[in-house]
Amino acid sequence: MPLEQLQQLQLDKFRKQAHRVYGNPFMKKRFHEAGMHPDDLKHWGDIKKVPFTYKDDLRDNYPTGLLCGKWEDVVRIHMTSGTTGVPTPMTYTKNDLDNWAVCMARNFVAGGLNKHDVVQQAHGLGLFTGGFGFHYGLERVGAKIVPTGAGGTERQLRLMQDWGTTVFTGTPSYAAYISEVALENGIDPVKDLKLRLGFHGGEPCTDELRHRINERMGYKAHGGGMRRCYGLTEMGGPMSMDCESESGIHIWLDHYLIELLDPDTLEAVQPGQPGELVLSNLSYEAMPILRYRTGDRVIISYDTCECGRTHPRITNFLGRVDDMLLVSGTNIFPSQVEDLLLQHPAISEHWQLVVGNRKGLHTLKVEVEPVPGAIIDDEYISTLEKTLHSFLEITCHVHFKPIGSLKRFEGKAVRVVDERNC
Ligand SMILES: [Zn+2]
Repeated sequence: MPLEQLQQLQLDKFRKQAHRVYGNPFMKKRFHEAGMHPDDLKHWGDIKKVPFTYKDDLRDNYPTGLLCGKWEDVVRIHMTSGTTGVPTPMTYTKNDLDNWAVCMARNFVAGGLNKHDVVQQAHGLGLFTGGFGFHYGLERVGAKIVPTGAGGTERQLRLMQDWGTTVFTGTPSYAAYISEVALENGIDPVKDLKLRLGFHGGEPCTDELRHRINERMGYKAHGGGMRRCYGLTEMGGPMSMDCESESGIHIWLDHYLIELLDPDTLEAVQPGQPGELVLSNLSYEAMPILRYRTGDRVIISYDTCECGRTHPRITNFLGRVDDMLLVSGTNIFPSQVEDLLLQHPAISEHWQLVVGNRKGLHTLKVEVEPVPGAIIDDEYISTLEKTLHSFLEITCHVHFKPIGSLKRFEGKAVRVVDERNC
């Protein structure tokens, strides 16, 4: 569908959702505070009058305070783990689950999957939205699913050999880890496995890590590639993915309205400029969220993709505000550190940032493992420290650790150890 037509459809759906959301007492109060009624939504420009929704709104209204549909129509409940104590909930009607499955099926097909693929689905199946979103999307495509969930790495490798698995899903860290365990067990993924596609989400993935996963899992050698997945519980779960053109992550405009705002002025940024992604769910019934401040800094392209799809793409993911570290007054995104580290072929993808406190001053240290056979001397470390310093604008010490000494992850990797309050 041409972009203009999609945007007209979005405005119609947004208006309907605003009425739905207005039926919720908490949100009705928000609308009143903003001096706004859903009937005021006449033109595209009126969307910005609708109040934002924040992560704390979901937490403060846990469990059912933001429900817009009827409780008897709810058929599924998911939530995030809630590192701060209170989880972020999401509820679904039957239609919500159907829409989610359709979006995910589109993602998989755009990424190159078909019904002949054997898919080992290693995103966790539980309260976390990822596993189920992947599962039902894959089922909709008609692929052959092996629902392993996360973990049991040696068994995962055995199943890949037994069933001729062609597609692997899980976090990028888990894909990196599984390729390492394969080599340790004498399995060369390029020669001994048939993996051609990887659909990896749940955490940010730098271009360099993606490149390494592509090589090591054999995706490129077998004619496919790694596809990154983007999504968040507040929007129902995983929702968008790289297509075969590998030129960005498509967001389906008939189900999600996107705005890209300057987080300070809250004005829309110019096309091609970075901004904070603000998302509205246009199709969900049980708990539609409008104008959600994701805190994710991205660049969006509205040009028609090489694949032919008109739905815009996230072309650059610059960091998630939640992940941002404040060290001695300097903002640091762990993904930027990874980007810098992995440009060095001698450095493996196993690394962590340790923030400490010495005599009231914050200290920053990167612990990394070298790749097997790498020669690391003092000069190498000193050059790396200088590069990190000029990039992060803060002193950062580099400690090389023995291979295998840093923790491996089957789900989301933990890249930051904050010892400041210990
Ligand atoms: Zn595309």
